[in-house]
Amino acid sequence: MVSASTGTGSVAIDRERCLGSGQCLVMAPDVFDQDEEGLVTFRDGVPPADVTSDIEDAVNNCPAVALTLTY
Ligand code: SF4
Repeated sequence: MVSASTGTGSVAIDRERCLGSGQCLVMAPDVFDQDEEGLVTFRDGVPPADVTSDIEDAVNNCPAVALTLTY
């Protein structure tokens, strides 16, 4: 499990659950990236402060329930 702070909370990735579907990259491209294996990673750099709703969309639409947002 890896996590990063955002403007209003902390988002965690459970890479062992990730299926590499890429939904989170579409919904929150400023926050998530995919590694060479296709698994989710955090994009380099600090996420902008105004991406919380994008992250919520990514969390709610991840088919593997691999993302968690904690306030
Ligand atoms: S949406 Fe979920 S399963 Fe798909 S790449 Fe992102 S974390 Fe992985």
